[in-house]
Amino acid sequence: MCAECSEQEARQPINSFHRRNFLITSAAITAMAFVGAGALSGIAHADALTKVQRDKLSPDEILALMKQGNKRFYTGKPTDRNALAQQRASAKGQYPAAVLLTCIDSRAPAETILDLRIGDIFNARVAGNVESPDILGSMEFACKLAGAKVVLVMGHTACGAIKGAIDNAELGNLTGLLAKIKPAVAATSYTGERTSKNYAFVDAVARKNVEITMANIRKDSPVLAAMESDGAIKIAGAMYNLETGVIDFFAG
Ligand SMILES: [Zn+2]
Repeated sequence: MCAECSEQEARQPINSFHRRNFLITSAAITAMAFVGAGALSGIAHADALTKVQRDKLSPDEILALMKQGNKRFYTGKPTDRNALAQQRASAKGQYPAAVLLTCIDSRAPAETILDLRIGDIFNARVAGNVESPDILGSMEFACKLAGAKVVLVMGHTACGAIKGAIDNAELGNLTGLLAKIKPAVAATSYTGERTSKNYAFVDAVARKNVEITMANIRKDSPVLAAMESDGAIKIAGAMYNLETGVIDFFAG
């Protein structure tokens, strides 16, 4: 609970959870209206993103919010949050600002490394963060029907799926999944050792894989491509560094 919210509670007795949530939300909206571009920090006053808050944010502001959250994470200053309050505040409805496509890697949980709350983002996870008809359908639901404004494809360093694609690994259904990553291996310009032992090459392929996945999303989903052309959404890319905790958001 921040000082501002505590002060507000002291002034006005809280009769119910909904009353309390409304007050906190109002405080956040007021703060946002007041400070303009600095408004993103105002969202931290609430336990869950509201429709009003989400609808006011532009795709660029949502990306800025995620960058700020990652900075809080890698500098060791995450927001002091109440997970149970978030669960209760978001139970009646969800208004996520973005849909993320990330790898299944256990060391890259999006809400943690972006310092976000329950209800802030949709998550699609698959080894190597590649798209598929089911992933695209999930993204189209997230953006066209549920109002998310950012599609963020995020790869990460030292990715096992990328290494597997470089090594031509074969195992059951994994073979077909890795085949979707192989175009990125071939498309990566790299003059040094092109093996899975060379982490610089592995990370270069992972970055190229994010770029190709972004292009495939635009090519294979006319729904999302049209929304991006209209400015309703932004399709963005990023790479998460397992060593530093820093997310490198691609320019543009
Ligand atoms: Zn991975």
